[in-house]
Amino acid sequence: MSQYSEHFLMNTEDVKKYSKEVAQYFTAEEELKVVEIGDGNINYVFKIWNPKTGKSMIIKQADKFLRSSGRPLDINRNRIEAEILKIEGALAPYFVPQIYHYDESMCAICMEDISNYKNLRTELLNGKTFASFAGDISTFLADTLLPTTDLVMDRAEKKGRVSRFTNIELCDITEDLVFTEPYYNYKNRNIILAENQDFVESNLYNNERLKAEVGILRDEFMNHAQALIHGDLHSGSIFANEEGIKVIDPEFAFYGPMGYDVGNVIGNLFFAWANKYYTEPGNSEFLCWIEETIRDIVDLFIKKFSVKYDALVTFDLYNSYFKEQYTSKVLAASFGYAGTEIIRRVVGDAKVLDVTSVKNLEQRIPLERVLIKMGISLIMNRYSFIKGTEITEEFKLILA
Ligand code: ADP
Ligand code: MG
Repeated sequence: MSQYSEHFLMNTEDVKKYSKEVAQYFTAEEELKVVEIGDGNINYVFKIWNPKTGKSMIIKQADKFLRSSGRPLDINRNRIEAEILKIEGALAPYFVPQIYHYDESMCAICMEDISNYKNLRTELLNGKTFASFAGDISTFLADTLLPTTDLVMDRAEKKGRVSRFTNIELCDITEDLVFTEPYYNYKNRNIILAENQDFVESNLYNNERLKAEVGILRDEFMNHAQALIHGDLHSGSIFANEEGIKVIDPEFAFYGPMGYDVGNVIGNLFFAWANKYYTEPGNSEFLCWIEETIRDIVDLFIKKFSVKYDALVTFDLYNSYFKEQYTSKVLAASFGYAGTEIIRRVVGDAKVLDVTSVKNLEQRIPLERVLIKMGISLIMNRYSFIKGTEITEEFKLILA
């Protein structure tokens, strides 16, 4: 029996040994350095490298307990992450780290070190812009989502995948944090500025029409096993540089509505936009870029989705009339989920730096309100928006 046949949490010395003996990524003679670089509150992420050659690798290990609170969390999430990274790697090879080795008993994923790409959320907060971002992320979305549906895949094979990717505990987190608590604070975990308390009560807690629409999106999230989705595609799961993007951390993956991924991307870009609008209103270069980027992501996604559809979907009933209806539903869901993402980050307890880093209350209070208004509009009007400019114009109206 190998010393790695039962799960234990590795320290930096264990990681050095593991990367030679199990991953066989380095030779026994190599002198290695290791640091733990995890910045999330769930897993442990190690960077291992040989300073002489520059060769490096990342090991992401899951523990049975959350590193933040010590609460148990289903370790199966690590297998799901390794499997979806392989599937996405085959469908969109330039956009995810390559998997070198995966070990189910140790819950350890050995993968390509993508440290030359930087966290998109922090880059945007620092005012960086990326000319090819809309092009890259829309390709990633079209290439990874449609091919995993049963419009393209064999029906039986797809159902097998639905079962392998059933992700009860991580979906449960989303169902609560995104689709329940911001509208119905039953766990008392929402964190709201005192000045915005009344605003939240009248616009969210007492807005019965909105609650019903969120209910529909929640029900769809829980019951529409449409495509293999990343499940947590916020701007801290996307790493970027001048050359392109890498998407990491798909441990929330499951078979769900593809609009959830598209919506998360779009929703998170509104945080960057709102942040700069209030903190650096004169930065027109960034403000123009973020507006164009949101617009282009929507329009390019529709275009690439359509091309992919024509290339891959051949079943007789899924003809051009079907395609039209299918696409509009995906788009409406995308806008709806962009709305729920925006609202949950402002009201719920998993905040984003784009909002919390704004310390000046004269900026923070209206910033939170415009975001909530935009979230509501995206949810309520999701069937009437059909082009990128319609949502960017809507946000400009709300800002004005
Ligand atoms: P968690 O699931 O705990 O949130 P992440 O997958 O988000 O963990 O990783 C945490 C951090 O570790 C990331 O924000 C990133 O800085 C770093 N990281 C993760 N994977 C890689 C990788 N393949 N290459 C370089 N850095 C990585
Ligand atoms: Mg994570």
